[in-house]
Amino acid sequence: MRRMRVLLVEDEPKTVSFIRKALLAEGLAVDVAGDGEAALAMVATTPFDALVLDIMLPGRDGLSVLRALRERRNATPVLLLSARGEVGERVDGLNAGADDYLAKPFVLAELIARVRALGRRRGETSPVLLRVADLTLDTVTRQARRGGVAIELSTREYRLLQHFLRSPGRVCSRMELLEAVWDYSFDPGTNVVDVYVGRLREKIDARHEPKLLQTVRGCGYVLRPPS
Ligand code: CA
Repeated sequence: MRRMRVLLVEDEPKTVSFIRKALLAEGLAVDVAGDGEAALAMVATTPFDALVLDIMLPGRDGLSVLRALRERRNATPVLLLSARGEVGERVDGLNAGADDYLAKPFVLAELIARVRALGRRRGETSPVLLRVADLTLDTVTRQARRGGVAIELSTREYRLLQHFLRSPGRVCSRMELLEAVWDYSFDPGTNVVDVYVGRLREKIDARHEPKLLQTVRGCGYVLRPPS
């Protein structure tokens, strides 16, 4: 198996050393950038499997780096690190195109698990435009559209829609969706899938015809035009 390559963007030497050692111990290759400009230069020339990007950086901050990256149509998965863990910052980060978010202080095992999850997602970044009927999802800009009209999605809703669009016409069970979208390997016994399918349906189907996201009783959900 190819070694996963990670770019760590952080200026604080102790944090760099701590994270770098942990990722190296996991067998990952790690490069380090101390500021946003250096990070963007490295990403332009090297294909990384994931970025671990601190928000607090000298010069341009992590969110600005992330926006610049996505504007350049670079889809490298990004885990944002924040010192504060404020809800607003988390939302800003996810809206700017982050794949995941972790507030400091964090447990190393959690960081590693999340970085690995990003690496698994890396292979899913092509093709760029997924489509069923007049519903499209650009996996680089993360923009969903129905009939050309832009739809705002949360990160979970995005991942859920992406999963459906990658298997159009196939019935997806709740367990499959829990694994693909929530990284659960067990059924937590909640109705989280149904809640999110409901939200997604509200966004992609409520004001449009035909209805695409369908319930298959006792089985799960399927994305397809009605037959
Ligand atoms: Ca920092």
